[in-house]
Amino acid sequence: MSTIRQKMILALEEKQMTAKELSKELKVSEKDIYTHLSHIQKTIKPQKKKLLVEPFQCLVCDFVFKERKRLTRPGRCPECKQGHISPAAYQIK
Ligand SMILES: [Zn+2]
Repeated sequence: MSTIRQKMILALEEKQMTAKELSKELKVSEKDIYTHLSHIQKTIKPQKKKLLVEPFQCLVCDFVFKERKRLTRPGRCPECKQGHISPAAYQIK
């Protein structure tokens, strides 16, 4: 477990990645990526690092999920009620 998180931290320090890209690179499910991300958020805090999130965005009306607290993918857009959501991207700075 911890090795995957270390790999994730290294990958995200290098470049911005989406959950899908991370799941491909680290060979874990997208669902697990979100769990790891929330742990990573806590892990890196004392190191004065931050997980930067480029928010999810609706592909239909361009609504941006800026206020979203959870890291997981939203089911559908609160504005137009469509489910075409572009992925969020993450980076550690
Ligand atoms: Zn929308």
